[in-house]
Amino acid sequence: MKYVDEFRQHKLAKQLAAAIRDEVDTGRSYHLMEFCGGHTHAIFRYGVQDLMPGNVRFIHGPGCPVCVLPVGRIDNAIHLVEAEDVILCTYGDLLRVPASGRNSLIKVKAAGGDVRMVYSTQDALNIARENPDRQVVFLAIGFETTTPPSAVALQQARREGLKNFSLFCNHVLTPAAIQNILESPEVREIGSVAIHGFFGPSHVSSVIGSRPYEFFAEEFQRPVVIAGFEPLDVMQSVLMLIRQLNQGRYEVENEYTRVVTREGNQKAQRLVAEVFELRRSFEWRGLGLVPYSALKIKADYQEYDAEQRFQIPVSPAKEVKGCECPAILRGAKRPTDCKLFGVVCTPDNPMGSCMVSSEGACAAYWSYGRFRQPEAKSASTEVAI
Ligand code: SF4
Repeated sequence: MKYVDEFRQHKLAKQLAAAIRDEVDTGRSYHLMEFCGGHTHAIFRYGVQDLMPGNVRFIHGPGCPVCVLPVGRIDNAIHLVEAEDVILCTYGDLLRVPASGRNSLIKVKAAGGDVRMVYSTQDALNIARENPDRQVVFLAIGFETTTPPSAVALQQARREGLKNFSLFCNHVLTPAAIQNILESPEVREIGSVAIHGFFGPSHVSSVIGSRPYEFFAEEFQRPVVIAGFEPLDVMQSVLMLIRQLNQGRYEVENEYTRVVTREGNQKAQRLVAEVFELRRSFEWRGLGLVPYSALKIKADYQEYDAEQRFQIPVSPAKEVKGCECPAILRGAKRPTDCKLFGVVCTPDNPMGSCMVSSEGACAAYWSYGRFRQPEAKSASTEVAI
């Protein structure tokens, strides 16, 4: 199969659903975490959960870069606009994420702050070229997939001698976050959250390969399948995870062979390594401080590092009262466990990042109407194997 439509074929979906039904052991449960919001939306949009046996359950993880950005970093970005008078460039999803005090970048923009929505790092570079008298900061977020374009932008800025461009780096790393979830008390303690296997994000692995997941598949005895984002990709990956669990195997398998290799894109990896290095720790919304889970700009490029140029402080900030995003991002609760869901929190009036981001779990529940259906048992009542 080569094209998108072929990965949405009804007939093949029915065959896969039958194969999954044949494979499951009715005496056990299969709780599979999709780390990435792209999988969450594929599951809801195409009704994949409805094709699963009752003992196969999807648990939504923290894999949305907008959702995991802590409130304090949005506060920092707002500070850059209001106090440092920079032109702040960022992607559209970030504009409505609630900051401290119910503020947001879009409110700052409405009040006259120079916040600009861009589609790429190249747009931000162009704004810097067109405004030589203003400082331009690109608020960079994303997993390993979006990091190479940020590295290219910094190399270009240096080549051109641009003195008014810098990057506020919030790039985060997926393997460290998955390891952190597996080490969290909710997962380790029997009777709390059960996670039996993972869907690995395929776009991330197109850059880093499948190899970085091998350590914890073995160490934590959880199978990982690198899964594409089309419905048949997800279903095939379910089948592969169930087979591993039934056979007592805990390996990294690659469903997305049409793009991902074990080694990944080594040219992109070299590019990233030239510009970025590991942070000792970084705060994730919902996970707290996670060791070696993010990147910072190397000293060699520090003149393009907004944190250095503007002395951005570490600023912990409070969540919106009642918002359950942190627990949802750890897989400990579902969107419908939040009292604000659909009452005061909707995509038109989001209280938390999980409702703002197009990849957030709350937005997925709302957009595809899953909250109208009877829920399976809450995550916190299931028993880990
Ligand atoms: S429904 Fe809204 S308030 Fe509740 S967890 Fe989701 S984003 Fe936060």
